[in-house]
Amino acid sequence: MKLTFFGTSHGHPERGRYCTSVYFEHKGNGFFIDAGAPLVYLIKQKGIPYESIKAMFITHMHNDHTAELPAIANSLWYHKQVEYWDIFFPDENGIAGLDAWTRAQYNGGGVTNNRLIHPHVTTPGVIYDQYGIRVTAIRTDHVNNGALPSYAYMIETDDGKRVLFTGDLAYDFHDFPQIAKEEYFDLIVSELVHLAPDKAAEILKDVNTRLLIFSHLGAYNVKKLEEHNIRFNFPHVVAIDGFEYYVI
Ligand SMILES: [Zn+2]
Ligand SMILES: [Zn+2]
Repeated sequence: MKLTFFGTSHGHPERGRYCTSVYFEHKGNGFFIDAGAPLVYLIKQKGIPYESIKAMFITHMHNDHTAELPAIANSLWYHKQVEYWDIFFPDENGIAGLDAWTRAQYNGGGVTNNRLIHPHVTTPGVIYDQYGIRVTAIRTDHVNNGALPSYAYMIETDDGKRVLFTGDLAYDFHDFPQIAKEEYFDLIVSELVHLAPDKAAEILKDVNTRLLIFSHLGAYNVKKLEEHNIRFNFPHVVAIDGFEYYVI
């Protein structure tokens, strides 16, 4: 499985960092975690064929993770791709909102009758098991103790690799998925903006992973990581836009 970090910023784009979207590819099929802008442009830039993309998993409805969804809907219609994308929304309001947006444009006919998008509402547990990818949604408490539906996603491949994406977490990281301390992961991709790096290190020190990649952060978080000279019990790197990693 190969990951490409399309956007690594936090709630707003920063110089050199677009908002959050991670692409991963397994056996020729493509998938996305989140749809931060300018995703449609980046798909074109990277030369990824629309028909190779199978599914998208949205962690929560905040704009920095979803702003490109109307453009995606329009782009699927424009490219007249043969197959559909499965898109998993954490909240049915997201489906209704995108549906209204696309209807207002009169060119996609709305999401619910647009065969190019199969919308789903994410619920805890296994939500997807196709193309050698099994995706499990884990509820998190990003805002107001879970008032806003938000999820971490665990990806397991048919060749035995396991990757965890935290999505956005609560301001004290109390919702960092417990499974990361109980089971081994080949890779964990964690946000690092809602808790200071030195405090996050306390929470993350028992995580059982081969590598931790921090994404969804700003330059000031990177600076704090360096200032505190934080040591983890495993290798860690800070992703920048365009960063690629092979889970082998
Ligand atoms: Zn965010
Ligand atoms: Zn958020």
